Amino acid sequence: MINETDLEAFGYWQEQWKSKPLDLNSYQKAAERTAIYSTKHAVLYPALGLAGEAGEVANKVKKMMRDGEFDKEGVKQELGDCLWYIAAMSRDLNVSMADLAMSNLEKLLDRKSRGTLKGNGDKR
Ligand SMILES: [Mg+2]
Repeated sequence: MINETDLEAFGYWQEQWKSKPLDLNSYQKAAERTAIYSTKHAVLYPALGLAGEAGEVANKVKKMMRDGEFDKEGVKQELGDCLWYIAAMSRDLNVSMADLAMSNLEKLLDRKSRGTLKGNGDKR
């Protein structure tokens, strides 16, 4: 249940975001305030949620093929939902989103430098 404290905190974050670009760790910290699932479902709950939201992104893109119209705002919202579950799962794993993002970039840049961006497998 959202209470006055949450609303005040949300107002605080809104003011922070207006004054400077939002960094990943700040997003993670703010998103954490809305993670209300039980700790006994840590990791599993956000993993399933992320899979569901990724499906919602795919479904919006599928409808573009069917209807010939692209719901950019809808896809944007679903990507945001994916981001929330990534933040939640990162928290459950005690990993900062900034570290996660940097590790991913390092992996991809390493693959690029070795010419292995194409291909298969996690250990390229
Ligand atoms: Mg969604």
